[in-house]
This record gives sequence, structure tokens and C-alpha cells, in this order.
Amino acid sequence: MSIQYCKKCLNVSTRPNIKFSEDDICPPCNFYASDYKSDPEVIEDKLNEIKAFAKKHNQSGYDCIIGVSGGKDSTRQALYVKEKFGLNPLLVSMNYPPDQISMNGVNNLSNLISLGFDCINISCSPQLWQKAMRHAFIHFGNWAKATEYALFASVPRVAVAYQIPLIWWGENAAAVLGEMGVLGKDLSDGNRLKYSNTLQGGNFNWLLDIGIEKKQILQYVYPTDEEMDKANIRIVFLDYFMKEFSLMANGNFSVLRGLHTKKPNPLINPDVTGTSMVDEDFININMMLRYLKFGFGRTSDLVNEEIRYGRITRDEAIKLVSLYDGNFDQEILLRFCNYIQISVHEFWEIADGYVNKALFERKAEGVYVPKFKVGVGL
Ligand SMILES: [Zn+2]
Repeated sequence: MSIQYCKKCLNVSTRPNIKFSEDDICPPCNFYASDYKSDPEVIEDKLNEIKAFAKKHNQSGYDCIIGVSGGKDSTRQALYVKEKFGLNPLLVSMNYPPDQISMNGVNNLSNLISLGFDCINISCSPQLWQKAMRHAFIHFGNWAKATEYALFASVPRVAVAYQIPLIWWGENAAAVLGEMGVLGKDLSDGNRLKYSNTLQGGNFNWLLDIGIEKKQILQYVYPTDEEMDKANIRIVFLDYFMKEFSLMANGNFSVLRGLHTKKPNPLINPDVTGTSMVDEDFININMMLRYLKFGFGRTSDLVNEEIRYGRITRDEAIKLVSLYDGNFDQEILLRFCNYIQISVHEFWEIADGYVNKALFERKAEGVYVPKFKVGVGL
């Protein structure tokens, strides 16, 4: 089967590093059904042990580190750790370059800091950033691969440098999405974070392949396992300790704490809430590319959680996903092409090499029609 859907939600068998159970259920639905967060004593014991670890090894005065953008997830995480756990976090923000970040992104990071946090802001050279993005798009069909290296590496790098051994990371992608590459010893353990499909263990040789020198990409290099062990770094998924850590819950929470959002327009942006991925616009193009590669877009991410929380039926979700997954904004595409210095025609020539031809039929340049039926498969 080219694409198979989870019987409970609309997760797909084509997602990297996923494996459905024999009864055709995706890992997140199985985790959710196992009610792994149901025993408050187990959760509390684990939390107390983690807090004790943080206090014992705290060299700097900060109890822990949280990577932030100021978006809905990081706003919720930072406030949760500070207000509910009583910890003193240091925030770390890997900023998008000035010509990529949106005003929402600028305002949201300012909003989060103004809620009472110390924050280290890191910026990379925009010229190299752009070059790495271009390379990542051409060679992987995923421009965000380069920037995700920097985003993910920045937090443990600061943790090692400041000797703050506890890192909170919001979402366990194994439990929520089915990205089983990051699955650790249990669902709170985030120490395998860099073993996702995108980060590939932090292997950066693909950046050196285009003539970039290692000394230019220090901010993109994830600490080695030895460096992490030596600094006693522990990454913990925060969602394990929260009743609900979802796109909807985090969006609602953060809007009430000052988050700036986009006006939803799902015909050109499949994020139907307008609350996620607001700090820059090019993600709109990456979500479209992901759809053409694997058959699922941004609307799928949202509805799968909503189905699990019982707020939407699978049939209602099928309608939304059929209408909106894969939609994108032509104006953003043009800006993206200008940013990485290719023409729109060249964009589609390159993108076509990444389109899953078993799933999509090409009708014209940039026009693909799915052969599969949402919720049914192919
Ligand atoms: Zn599922």
C-alpha cells in the first residue's frame, strides 16, 4: 500500500520513522489509549526526581534551559516551568535572520521575555544561513533542515557552556507524531532528540559538501554524545508532565498571555487556527513540500490531536484535511524563491524530484492531484 491511514486518526504510514501496530493504529493513538499519564504518583515522583537533579547539578543559578521562539509552544513551556514547577529557567532563542523573521515573530519573542525571563538570543550570519537553506532545499527538498540544525543545537550548546544540565523540550515527537527515532528510555526521556529524521544524529557533513567550513557552522553543530555525557546533560519532554500539550491548548493559553497570531486563511495556509508557525512565513512552503513528499500537511497535524482529544470526529477531520492540506501561498513562494535566489520555474523543477509520484499525479507545473483518498489510502 502506498499510503495507509491510522484507523483512529488520520496519521499516515508514509511519515518518516513511523510504524503502525498490527491493527493499523499509529503509535500516538496507541500511546494515548495506554493512558500513560494517568497515574499522578508516577508523574509526581518522576518530576521530583528531575527537579532534584536540576538543583543538585545547578552550577549557574539557573535550574534549567528552554529553547524558545516566543511562539505558542515555547510561551506555554516557559510559563509552565516557572509557574507550576517553581523553577528558574534560562531561555535560549535561535533567531531567524532579520530578513526572514516576521513582525509576529519579533513581537512574540518580546512578549515572552517581557513576561519575566532572562533570554540568550543567538543569531547566525544571514548569508551563510541563506546558503544552507538553499542547499537544504535543493538536496533534501526541505529548506528547514539547515535551520532546524541551528535551532536544535543552540539549546544543548548553551546548556554545556553554562553548565545547566536540565533541558526542557516541549513535545515528544514519538508520542505526538509517531517519529519513533526520538523515542528514549520512556516517554519523558528526550536524550535521543537529535535522532529524528531531519537531524540524523546531528551529522553535518552535508553542509561541508558545499564548501562551507566547519568553523563557519559552529552554531549548527549539535554537541556530540561524549560532550553531552561529560556535561551530564539531560533532556526531558515537558508534555509528559502536562495533561494536554496540543496545538489547540498551547494556542489558546498563549493568546491569553499576549501571543500575536495570523488571521486564519486555510485556502493559502493549512494552519486553520492561525496560531502556529507565525514567526516566519517560509514554513508555508515547507508544509506544502512535506505534503507532496509524504501525503500529509499541516491540517493533518492539528486534526490528529483534536481527534484524540475527542473534540472532532474522524469524518469531520477528513473533510478539513481534504480541503486544506497542501494549500500554500503563491506570494510566499515567490518571496521564498527570491530569498534562496532561484526562479519559481526552477523551484518546481527541483520540487518535482521530491514529489511522491505514487501518491500524486502532475497536471501542470506546480499542480499536483492526489491519487489517494484522505482517510482511506491508496
Ligand atoms: Zn492514530
